[in-house]
Amino acid sequence: MATRATWLTRHLVTLPESADVIANQGSLELVPIPLALMSLSKGGARFETFNRAFTRARLIDEPNLKPIVEAFLASGAENEERDWQTGAVVERRHYRLTLSRLPHRADQACIASFVDQTAEVRTEETLRREMSTDSLTGLPNRGGFTDALEASIVQGNACWAVLMVDLDRFSRFNACLGSLTGDELLITVARRIKGALRSGDTLARTGGDEFGVLLTIDSDRSEADQVARRIRDALATPFRLSEYELRVSCAIGIAFGDAEVTDAEDVIRHAQVAMKKSKATKNAESYQTRALDSARAEFAMETSLRRAIESEQLNLVYQPICDLQTGRVSGFEALARWTDEHGVRHEPSRFIPVAEESGLIVPLGRWALDSALRTLADWDRRSGGYCGVTVSVNLSPIQLQRDAIAEVVRCALQDSGLAGARLKLEITESALINDPDQIARVLTGLKETGVTIAMDDFGTGFSNLASLQKLPIDILKIDRSFVTGLLTDRDKVAIVRAILGLSQALGMETVAEGIEGIDVGQTLAALGCTFGQGYAYARPLEPGAAYAFLRERNA
Ligand code: C2E
Ligand code: CA
Ligand code: CA
Repeated sequence: MATRATWLTRHLVTLPESADVIANQGSLELVPIPLALMSLSKGGARFETFNRAFTRARLIDEPNLKPIVEAFLASGAENEERDWQTGAVVERRHYRLTLSRLPHRADQACIASFVDQTAEVRTEETLRREMSTDSLTGLPNRGGFTDALEASIVQGNACWAVLMVDLDRFSRFNACLGSLTGDELLITVARRIKGALRSGDTLARTGGDEFGVLLTIDSDRSEADQVARRIRDALATPFRLSEYELRVSCAIGIAFGDAEVTDAEDVIRHAQVAMKKSKATKNAESYQTRALDSARAEFAMETSLRRAIESEQLNLVYQPICDLQTGRVSGFEALARWTDEHGVRHEPSRFIPVAEESGLIVPLGRWALDSALRTLADWDRRSGGYCGVTVSVNLSPIQLQRDAIAEVVRCALQDSGLAGARLKLEITESALINDPDQIARVLTGLKETGVTIAMDDFGTGFSNLASLQKLPIDILKIDRSFVTGLLTDRDKVAIVRAILGLSQALGMETVAEGIEGIDVGQTLAALGCTFGQGYAYARPLEPGAAYAFLRERNA
């Protein structure tokens, strides 16, 4: 039926005379589709005649038909074809409307034919909806989400944000509990996230265990953070599925829409980038368009840092490490400083990471080692042979991995003429996480040069004392975060006490960092900590001032 009607319409359009024939012979009834002969009179378009199909379709009262016909007849065109619909949403009918002018009529007249396409349109809509729907959760899928996002972009001025939510460890749940439980979990997660959203927000399942949220926001971007927090809270309660109780956490990345964003896929990608970052930081993260700028700034810093190492803009300052009982100086920690050619001072907390990322830490580290040993040898000379202290140099994990560090240390000692016992090397826990066997080999190689090894920032990483036991570590440096506020925080006292107890059992020395008050130093001494370092004793000092401090304290 549909094909015949279509054929007829096409026929009417391609051969306008056939419309004429139909009209002249009064054979409108021969055609099974709605037809109307309309002409222009003073009052506008009017129906001259129509067939029964037209009456059955109740097209006569359609208010928007006449203006179309009037415009067509005024245009002088011979025929016109267009989609046309009538009725309210639920019973809406879709037609292909063809208008064909009757060439032999002196007055303006045409035949309007209506091919009903409602069934086709509905099928297509259902198909499109199914194609953009996730069958498990009934939510829009990735395609549907992109469509919704595109609509937001087209609307222009409205503010919106995209949140990408990725479940942690979902593939493991799925593997352990079976995909049926996995499916059940996803459905429940979807329901909970939905519950955390506001009525106008769109939730979609954009991937296996990834959900997308489209938020309309006022200009205040903190709304997106609030929604992110509500989603996390909603997932925080354990899930009870069959006999299991599951804890599900998630990473959330946020990207904001603005006037410059034109591509939905870009926004999704940005939110996913932020989401990856969130996996590491455990916080909801938003995508920074400025990421590129900061990458550029970092690159600029890398270039000038390279120059700084070559042109000796770097220097070392020395912070005393004191015996907490006697107050005598037992050593100095060498800390890098950088003043660039414009006189700008850069913080090690900023340039050391750049040096590590760029690999510049290798030449920088060698320079620091040489420079610290040269200074110590100089102090020895000035003291008439032996100044009585050691020097501690920080080693980055990168140096332990890449540089032939034991060989480098041996050469540096040889050049300075100092014994290995005068040098302490500070490594951080992050050096231990990669390959424990390799790090054990490297540290053993270092020990052969006679140096002492200190574990820096202890307590901030993941290692425990048991794992340290297997490594040739001589000193634990208790991180500043446990020392600051020690006197008012019982938990910190308990942690410090535990670290001290265990390190004594393992025969390690302890150094507390960041002692800003003498009373803190005294408390630490009472708890059994042997050495300390911090502003209470001295800030990091220029070599000359450090030597003066040493002579005064140890006189
Ligand atoms: P770190 O090894 O933990 O060094 C101790 C940091 O604490 C130093 O910061 C020091 O100035 C600061 N500090 C000392 N006493 C106090 C105190 O009482 N209160 C407070 N609030 N801070 C105190 P700095 O010099 O900015 O160094 C930062 C970090 O940069 C160092 O942390 C170290 O990890 C790294 N670093 C510095 N120089 C080098 C180097 O030559 N090589 C390598 N690989 N890393 C270095
Ligand atoms: Ca250190
Ligand atoms: Ca430290």
